[in-house]
Formats: sequence, structure tokens, C-alpha cells
Amino acid sequence: MNGEPLALYVHWPFCVSKCPYCDFNSHVRSGIDQDEWRAALLADLAHEARLLPGRQLTSIFFGGGTPSLMEPATAEAIVDAATSYWSPTRDIEITLEANPNSVESARFADLARAGVNRLSLGLQSFDDGALHFLGRAHSATEGFRALEIAERTFRRVSFDLIYALPGDTQESWSAMLAQALSLGTSHLSLYQLTIEPGTRFASMVARGELRPLDSDEAATLYELTDAMTSDAGMPAYEISNYARRGQESRHNLTYWRYGDYAGVGPGAHGRRLGMRTIRHRKPENFLSALVRNGHAIAEEAPLSRVEAADEALVMGLRLREGIDVQAIAERFSLPSIVDLDRVDRLAASGHLKRKLTRIALTPAGRLLLDHILGEIALGEPALASAG
Ligand code: SF4
Repeated sequence: MNGEPLALYVHWPFCVSKCPYCDFNSHVRSGIDQDEWRAALLADLAHEARLLPGRQLTSIFFGGGTPSLMEPATAEAIVDAATSYWSPTRDIEITLEANPNSVESARFADLARAGVNRLSLGLQSFDDGALHFLGRAHSATEGFRALEIAERTFRRVSFDLIYALPGDTQESWSAMLAQALSLGTSHLSLYQLTIEPGTRFASMVARGELRPLDSDEAATLYELTDAMTSDAGMPAYEISNYARRGQESRHNLTYWRYGDYAGVGPGAHGRRLGMRTIRHRKPENFLSALVRNGHAIAEEAPLSRVEAADEALVMGLRLREGIDVQAIAERFSLPSIVDLDRVDRLAASGHLKRKLTRIALTPAGRLLLDHILGEIALGEPALASAG
């Protein structure tokens, strides 16, 4: 529909090396042809633009992989193309994820000139031992230097830390978090280390070479994080994201509030006009599909009303603001999407809050998101027969 808001996600699939915890679509390749990749991403973008005429572009997010390895001219060409296909809102948010080594920080000024106005920096830790454990290619000193340059260069900056590593304690994590909060950055993404299938860490766990932190300990660290960030005026607005008021990632809010977004680049997911899209993951397959088809979509399928409502619930419950279950039911022409009796039981046990038809997780509930979803979602058969 004309004038409706749209977000754009662009995936750059390459990294210098593969981190042992990473299950993102990232690949290590020698000799990346930047011109070829610029042309490929632009062609993939042009395909989405043809299908989505007349939209208002609210955000662009360059994710990866390591998009700070992309030539700034590529980011600029994509920003220029996207803002010519769609009309950008006056306050369009253009975020790029960056790693904090010196080669990449040297590009920050050019990326800002290319239109990037928000940088998301993968610091991950302030401790060199932890950075080594996480397979990161930068030191803590490089991280601080990159953050300084980023704060000088971009209007908005965020950085990531990973905690709940083996051996982390309340003392060690609260010291690192206090240091993070003292830096004055207006947005933080604080992720607990999770062992994802298929990663090097997963093999190490299977061989008994790595023991993840006990889940009770990890839960205690999460609660500590919640308390410290709230005290510092940067409460969680999503399970792992913390911001000063007004500094939330508008791009990610589009996902969580279940707005439309175009996703281009290898492995990118998108959701537009009731369709789910997935691009080819492997860079070589992505390029050959583009040559063959003029786009790199591997899967494109309509979402049923029940699937869409379910996704909207899963996404919305991640947010501190929660979700209006009646509004979602109406949006997808369903009588209801949750079992309200169960919602009330979980509210009584302190895991959910409910105000009329709006429900949200409490901090205790945030630790049990999957379990709570299983409890309250009406699920496919009930909704299908009711709808
Ligand atoms: S830099 Fe990021 S995307 Fe690349 S391997 Fe490491 S965690 Fe994965």
C-alpha cells in the first residue's frame, strides 16, 4: 500500500575469520570482488523496489557478516538507490554493524559521508582474555579507540557485549557493565553467550572441552543486568537491548512490532505484503541465482493468517512494551491469539503483566520467553478452526 513504512535490511556475508560462537550467515573468503558485490546487492535491491512501489523508507540496516569490510562506496550506492526507490523519512535511521579493529575504524568517516548515521560496534568485551576466548580479532584497547572515533563520527552509537561466559561471576560482570554504562553510549546490546548448534563452541561442549555457565548463574547475571541498566536510565526495551529514551533501534523495532521489511543480500530474510522471503545463503549461490533470475530469492511464500499472528506474538513479546493481542487478532482476522486464562495465571505468578488486551513479560518472565509462548499461544489447530 502506498506510503506505508518500510525498513530495509542489507546483509554483507563476509568476515575476516569465523568466531567460534557464531551461527550467523558469515563466510571467510580471500579476494572479494567489491565491484561484483556492489552490483549484485544493487540488483537484488532493485528487485524488491519493483515489488514495493511508493513506500516510505524509515530505516536501513547493514548487518553481517562484517559490513564494515564493505567499501564505503558500496554502502553509499545502496543508500542512494534505496532512497531514490522509496521516499526516506526525514529522520531515516541508517545503521551499520562494525568490528572495532583499526582498519575498519579508519573507514568510519567515509561511512558517515555515505549516509550511515548510526554505528553498532561489536566490542563484545573489555577483557583481552575474553576477547581471545571469543575468537575476536581486536584487543580491548582497539575497542575503546574505535568507540571514541565512532562517538565523534556518528550521531548515534551502540555497542554489543557478550556475557555469561564460562567463569563469569556477579563481580566480574557487574564491573564490566559498570564500565560500559560509564561510557555514556546511548544504546547497548547485551547478549548472553549461547551455544548454537554447528558452531565450534558446540563441538567443544560435545567433546567436554567447554562447560557453559550454569543456567541459574546466567539468570542471576541477567537480573543484575536489568537492575544496573535501569538504575543508569537505560532500561531494557527488548530482551537483550537497552537504551536511553528515544535511542531505541527503530529498525529493530520494525521487526518486533511486525512491520514490513525488505531483506537483500545472502541469507537475508524479509517480510513484505504478507510474504516471507529468504535469499540464498552461500555467497556463490547468491551470485549465480542473481545472474539466473535477476534476484537471489531462495524461498518466497505467503504467510497464513495464523502463522503471521503467531510471529507477531513471538516478536512483540520480546518488547518491554509488549503487545496488544486484540489488535493483532483483528489485524489477521482471527478471534483471538492467546489463551487469556493462562495469561492471567502467568500474571498471578509474576511472569506476565496484563492491562486489558495488552500483555508484556515481567523481567522474571523474560528469562522464560519460549516456555511462556508455549503456554499462552493458542496454536495452529485452535486458531485455524476458530478462524
Ligand atoms: S565477526 Fe560477527 S558475523 Fe563475523 S564470525 Fe564473528 S560473530 Fe560472526
